Amino acid sequence: MDKKSEILESVLDEFKNLAAIPRQSGHEQAVSDFLKKYLTEAGFSVQQDEVYNIIADAPTSPGYEKAPLTIIQGHMDMVCVAEEGYSYDPHKDPIKLVRDDKYLSAEGTSLGADDGIGVAEGIYVLKNAKDHGPLRLIVTVDEERGMTGAVNLEDKYLADASFLINCDSENWDELTVGCAGSVNLDFSRKLKRTAPQGKAAWKISVNGLLGGHSGERIGDGRGNAIRTLALALQALQEKGLVEVADFRGGKARNAIPDSAAAVIVTDLAEEEINEILFVELGRFNKIYGSVDPKAKFQAVKAELPAEVLTAGDAKRLLSLLTILHTGVFAMSTVIPGLVETSANLGVVEMKADEVAVQYFPRSAVDQKIDEFRHFAQQIAELTGFTAHIGTQSPGWKENKDSRLAKIMAETFKAQNGQPMKVETIHAGLECGWHFRKNPQLDMVSIGVTTTDIHSPKERLELATVEPQVKLILETLKKIAALK
Ligand SMILES: [Zn+2]
Repeated sequence: MDKKSEILESVLDEFKNLAAIPRQSGHEQAVSDFLKKYLTEAGFSVQQDEVYNIIADAPTSPGYEKAPLTIIQGHMDMVCVAEEGYSYDPHKDPIKLVRDDKYLSAEGTSLGADDGIGVAEGIYVLKNAKDHGPLRLIVTVDEERGMTGAVNLEDKYLADASFLINCDSENWDELTVGCAGSVNLDFSRKLKRTAPQGKAAWKISVNGLLGGHSGERIGDGRGNAIRTLALALQALQEKGLVEVADFRGGKARNAIPDSAAAVIVTDLAEEEINEILFVELGRFNKIYGSVDPKAKFQAVKAELPAEVLTAGDAKRLLSLLTILHTGVFAMSTVIPGLVETSANLGVVEMKADEVAVQYFPRSAVDQKIDEFRHFAQQIAELTGFTAHIGTQSPGWKENKDSRLAKIMAETFKAQNGQPMKVETIHAGLECGWHFRKNPQLDMVSIGVTTTDIHSPKERLELATVEPQVKLILETLKKIAALK
């Protein structure tokens, strides 16, 4: 076996251990217990905290005891999703790995390379690093749901460190040096229902939009299915009585909704409905068509519901869904092309007696997030909703004087003969919380190349593992030699 495949095979062996243990966000005890035992047996000093985060310190190479402490960090939880029809219990079933010449993927499910491969690399590095100073691996829980592992991580585990390498990014040649903060905003309203006045019910749906991750794709100018449908219903209401029995759309707060559907009751004729939807589609295409060309409306006869929302409730809901700005608010004045502030109208869920709306602002500027909290209260008052202001995730502000970013970018170039792309992202990373707890911490985020994360198509590009591990090992040597 040559040296190259030795690194890859060893990292994959570590990854296999993790893939064998179910580790959906919020259900990490088993994998955390495994890591505690495994890393202890490997000779490291291991702490497991109250929320099951793992903190493992490696013995320092002799002679480097005074070097600055570096943390390698990843998260143990994963998003568990399966292909339609594939039998999978995320609390019981292991991930079945499928490997070909170029890629590692999973049979029928998400792979969990996000962030199992980051953790596997961290373990490999702890075991194999040479000439390194104080070195710590931190593996958090629950990154994917709400970063509660990072939120609850005790400050003391970060306070004595100088550098942190987060291994939760997705492109081997990108060095992330800053991220956006966010806040979970929800609006809800108790609903009253009444017997419909109209005679016929229709299911109006919009789908075919591109959707996508709100941190990565919001700057592309894509349409939002929830807003599009709400505008269409308002246009229908201008033509005659249109009562709303149901309205729902979106899958997650941080995903741009690609479809939405409503049930309405109206006496408008089918041709009138289709004519208005045709005009609305034309309007949509003028605004978004160049980037989001496949949207379509559909009106299908539905069973007449016994009750519809009162006119007042329907009006308030459609007002809220059209007033909430969804998309880009501001571009960065420092970094060309980077979205600085955005918000995503992510989910509308309706029950018989209540409707809930999920809204998700992000910003590189924490003060703008504060403004959103204030704005949510005002909007709620104006539309008769109740605002629920959830956890605020802090942003991580780029440090122009980062020694770690400089070392890594230079090392990458020397090792691979090409420059590393240095960037700030509009999405969130646990680094935001680390930054809040220790603003002196010099951090970067890196990752091997993975695609279609959080989906059954998730796969990992095998050839990117070895260069990334070598980059970390060499960086640790250079840190140990720092004056
Ligand atoms: Zn991740």
